[in-house]
Amino acid sequence: LRIEIQNSEKQRIVSDLTSVFAHEIRNPMQVTRGFLQLLNEPGLSEKKREYIHISIEELDRANDIINDLLSLGKPPTNDMQGVDAGHQLGRVIQILETYAAFQDVTIISSIDKNCWVLANAQKLNQCLINIIKNAIESMPTGGVIHATCTSTEDGYIEIMIKDQGVGMTREQIERLGSPFYSLKESGTGLGMMVSYQIIRSFKGKVLVHSEKNIGTKFIILLPSLKHDY
Ligand code: ADP
Ligand code: MG
Repeated sequence: LRIEIQNSEKQRIVSDLTSVFAHEIRNPMQVTRGFLQLLNEPGLSEKKREYIHISIEELDRANDIINDLLSLGKPPTNDMQGVDAGHQLGRVIQILETYAAFQDVTIISSIDKNCWVLANAQKLNQCLINIIKNAIESMPTGGVIHATCTSTEDGYIEIMIKDQGVGMTREQIERLGSPFYSLKESGTGLGMMVSYQIIRSFKGKVLVHSEKNIGTKFIILLPSLKHDY
């Protein structure tokens, strides 16, 4: 199933509003987090320490949501330059390896050299992190993720992320990328929305193939940037 990324009005409104509010909300949260840490003294009862721990975790979760929202507020064409997509994919896999191992997930990668695209490295990384994190989280009892980066004959750099996870129905695939769509207990439902927006800003495309209880394959296609002349 091919997902056409739409530049919807709804998404633009979300991004305008959030960039205004996000910074204002973050400061009081950081102050609260700091005081919670100060409260957390060794003499406290186990129960109270647990409550403080949960409060800090929840604040961090709120902060994650804000981070996702904030990246929507950025104009789509800022800071584009030649980026080796394969190199970035390798870095992201390295970053996520501990998280994956913790969930009994192994990431096997095959990355071509010189996969140059016109992009913003940080945003590309964020997009890849969101997609690979979802792949890891789709396998509650562990498994293997295959990640590849290759150049296609018709001028694209193709990044593929394939998991052996819970998979999605057609309806679920179609809802991917809508704000706050999440089937996870503590999910933000913003990761895919951010990722689609990033790929769109790089003039890329996304293909999603998924089968319930078999797994999911994301293919990101970005226009290749020739560097050899
Ligand atoms: P979140 O991860 O916070 O739930 P996302 O926008 O990243 O939000 O993903 C939205 C939803 O899409 C997830 O809750 C999950 O149900 C589904 N999803 C995304 N990627 C996968 C995947 N690789 N396998 C199965 N389901 C997925
Ligand atoms: Mg996610």
